[in-house]
Amino acid sequence: MSIHVLAPDVAAKIAAGEVVERPASVVKELVENAIDAGATAVRVEIAEGGKRLVRVMDDGGGIPAAEVPLAFARHATSKLSSVEDLSHVTTLGFRGEALASIAAVSQLTLVSRPAAQTTATRIRLEGGQQVSLGAAGSAAGTSISVENLFYNVPARLKFLKATATEAGHIHRIVSHYALAYPHIRFTLQTDNRTTFHTSGSGDLFDALAAVFSLETARQLIEVSNQETPVDGPAVAVAGFTGATSLHRGGRDQIIFFVNKRWIQDRALNQAVVQAYHTFLPVGRFPVAVLNIELDPTEVDVNVHPTKAEVKFQSPRFIFKAVQKAVREAVVAASPVPGMGGHAPGSFGLHAGDSAPWPGTLGASRGHNFNQMGFEAQRTLPVANRPDNPDTAAEVWQMPPTEPTKMPPMRVVGQIQQMYIVAEGPDGLYLIDQHAAHERILYEKLAAQRAKADVPQQRLLEPVLVELAPGHAAIVAAELDILTEVGFDIESFGGATYRIRGIPEMLGQADPAQALVDILVEMADGAIPLAKETHEKIAITVCKRASIKGGQVLSPEEMKELVRQLERTTAPRTCPHGRPTMVHLSASQLAREFCRV
Ligand code: ADP
Ligand code: MG
Repeated sequence: MSIHVLAPDVAAKIAAGEVVERPASVVKELVENAIDAGATAVRVEIAEGGKRLVRVMDDGGGIPAAEVPLAFARHATSKLSSVEDLSHVTTLGFRGEALASIAAVSQLTLVSRPAAQTTATRIRLEGGQQVSLGAAGSAAGTSISVENLFYNVPARLKFLKATATEAGHIHRIVSHYALAYPHIRFTLQTDNRTTFHTSGSGDLFDALAAVFSLETARQLIEVSNQETPVDGPAVAVAGFTGATSLHRGGRDQIIFFVNKRWIQDRALNQAVVQAYHTFLPVGRFPVAVLNIELDPTEVDVNVHPTKAEVKFQSPRFIFKAVQKAVREAVVAASPVPGMGGHAPGSFGLHAGDSAPWPGTLGASRGHNFNQMGFEAQRTLPVANRPDNPDTAAEVWQMPPTEPTKMPPMRVVGQIQQMYIVAEGPDGLYLIDQHAAHERILYEKLAAQRAKADVPQQRLLEPVLVELAPGHAAIVAAELDILTEVGFDIESFGGATYRIRGIPEMLGQADPAQALVDILVEMADGAIPLAKETHEKIAITVCKRASIKGGQVLSPEEMKELVRQLERTTAPRTCPHGRPTMVHLSASQLAREFCRV
């Protein structure tokens, strides 16, 4: 075939493919247009997963009659006029491609009326060709109906999935925008049934409850952090992140917006996951809804036709800002699990009857839950401030000290050679001696590693150990890290190694046995949440070194353990993310004894 320029309709269909992949892409573009138009209510109707119909209606500014046909021309936009504008786009749209693309691959009807006009304009296009244009009656705003998507592109049509799958994608899009814009009332109607809606109250809690359920929303902690580094851009991270009681099997409930544009970014996802390091059970992932606010010149939204991915000028700063904001919020709110219901290790007293956990959204309602953005400028979640009247009434009472600390405790005794019984300002605590010691050792080791000063005990006689091939492979690969945490090991040929020193914290342990135990743990992959191998090794060493269940402790030893636990930064969980303590509050005790 000789080289020739493609016919315009062929070119248009190809170009459309970049923007419109499936019905959900149509919904995304039309919802973005409605938001850009200043809508206070956006209604999305779909039939057959959007394959037969996607209709988006808004009460926004509308399109003036004279401009209606132009809106469907490629690169026609009212949002941008120069290349310079591109560096500081504040609207969701700007490429002027969506309407043209959608129209090219569907049968589309638009009815639009600016409030100042008395009649609306109605236009119909099929396969991008205008088939009618005229006046119509309609309320102010815009309604766009997209029928039979890809009716003229069989190759694409073939790839559309089952109705339920496509509807699921649409649900995701609508609910995400509902989170970013809690002051807009969103409705999703699926085959004539309302399947999702938000109140548009402007209160993010309402939107979170609509998207995730009330139960989940109550377990979210406010995140609000601003960074203005000298050597990087100002970044504000605001939104909500799950309490450590809340986790999921996958990462799909970690949701990001950049300047309220929904984006997908694997690195940022990872920043959130890492912020929960040692806080969540193995293989579980947090829930988070975060808006990153930064100067528009710091982010290029024009790297992808669907604008779903963006490029940051300083990705590392953004990564760190997100990680720090989430980590701080989680550490500050990390609660002592109550014995009431949700807590792992719960004793099941009054299951489901416990008050919302401290630091969660439920406990702090009514305190300025507006939308995510710069307006929320607190460093501590509101529920943890001692002056918060709502929290004071809850079962848990924050001690008037720093919220990251555990309350002062008086050791009462030990039970089952495993748990320390202690009294705190509000009731009874049971501390898992092994988990608590793991936390203490882990933080101690981290501090020593940071200074490259991990104490080691030299063995008088080097010990030879022959390792299983799998274990030998771990040693060979991770020798540096084993050295960093205090081992002195060298290869002695094949799978045999010579141990000359072990971490001091391992005490009187049999060196060969200690090394093998640690390698067994490592090979098990029992700590998949640890982001890097050296974390895994550090956690494993601490686990091996810590006091076990079954060990009788003297009152002095228990007191010392509690005192050291108090000094850690995250006293309420062990490095694996399990709780170090459970709490039975004074009011729960009173209830148990029918004193109230
Ligand atoms: P973009 O959003 O990138 O500007 P689109 O193709 O999505 O490009 O839309 C083209 C233009 O049509 C927009 O710039 C806007 O002026 C107008 N428009 C589209 N949808 C709406 C709407 N719901 N309300 C008002 N104007 C709209
Ligand atoms: Mg647009």
